[in-house]
Amino acid sequence: QARAEGRRGYQFFSGRTDASSSQRLRLENDLHRAIERGELVLHYQPRYELATGALCACEALLRWQHPQRGEVSPTEFVPLAEESGLIAPIGAWVLREACRQLQRWQAQGLDVRPVSVNLSARQFRHQELLSMVHAVLDETGVAPHLLELEITETTLMHNTGETLSILGQLHALGIRISVDDFGTGYSSLAYLKRFPVDMLKIDRSFVHDLCTDDDDAIIVSAIIGLARSLQLRVVAEGVETPEQVDFLKQRGCDEAQGFLFGVPLPAGRFGALLGRPA
Ligand code: C2E
Ligand code: MG
Ligand code: MG
Ligand code: MG
Repeated sequence: QARAEGRRGYQFFSGRTDASSSQRLRLENDLHRAIERGELVLHYQPRYELATGALCACEALLRWQHPQRGEVSPTEFVPLAEESGLIAPIGAWVLREACRQLQRWQAQGLDVRPVSVNLSARQFRHQELLSMVHAVLDETGVAPHLLELEITETTLMHNTGETLSILGQLHALGIRISVDDFGTGYSSLAYLKRFPVDMLKIDRSFVHDLCTDDDDAIIVSAIIGLARSLQLRVVAEGVETPEQVDFLKQRGCDEAQGFLFGVPLPAGRFGALLGRPA
């Protein structure tokens, strides 16, 4: 609370950010009502296994359809939700909606794949995270192995005792844990040993210039090598070209996600990618 006031106070004195500060405030107020007004939706981006080309999972990505502004990017409103404490109810909505959607696809007789849900560091400081996950799984009847949770390195760095205990309990349920945007945070590789992590997602900033920037090529190869040595699965994010796919396959990257394979889609359109059980 004090920190939020301090921040606003600072922005008040700098003329240029004044307007954007009141705009933020308005957006924050709107966000309060976004859930009840049904303005939030999830899109689903496919993830493919590189060796077989099989659809192996999808990532649920939050969209806010603002009545006046149109679609607001999660890179804009998720940080706002984190600072204002709204991330707990919004995060709970995301998990519940993703699980309900899994249930709908199953009811349609589709051969569902696991859904991956992003968790912000703030949600981990919430005692309620575990009971919320339990409640949503109970309520929707979704099998825990159909759920993946994406956390960032920052989450692993904070409140390590509590985070370790929460992650351990989630993992024991059969939920898979991925480290998102791997390589961009304050990485301490020791955490990969301590925490029950199943997968590394290579940040798309390293993938983007993979074929032209030697440093990026070296970093991506190193992350793939690290994951394989630690027996973690490894996914490349933001894959946009066939050349990147060739490189990743050659280095033994397990899976890929990106515009080359598919953009995030509304639930109905993603459902069309799912087959019928054999
Ligand atoms: P992220 O979890 O790393 O998600 C991947 C982002 O990369 C998505 O952006 C996706 O649309 C984008 N992307 C996928 N493939 C490509 C590609 O080939 N090229 C490029 N340039 N971009 C690609 P999006 O949907 O705008 O989400 C941005 C971030 O917002 C996410 O990054 C995640 O950190 C956050 N976010 C989204 N939904 C949620 C949510 O439900 N909860 C939380 N806590 N954060 C979320
Ligand atoms: Mg993610
Ligand atoms: Mg990412
Ligand atoms: Mg990201």
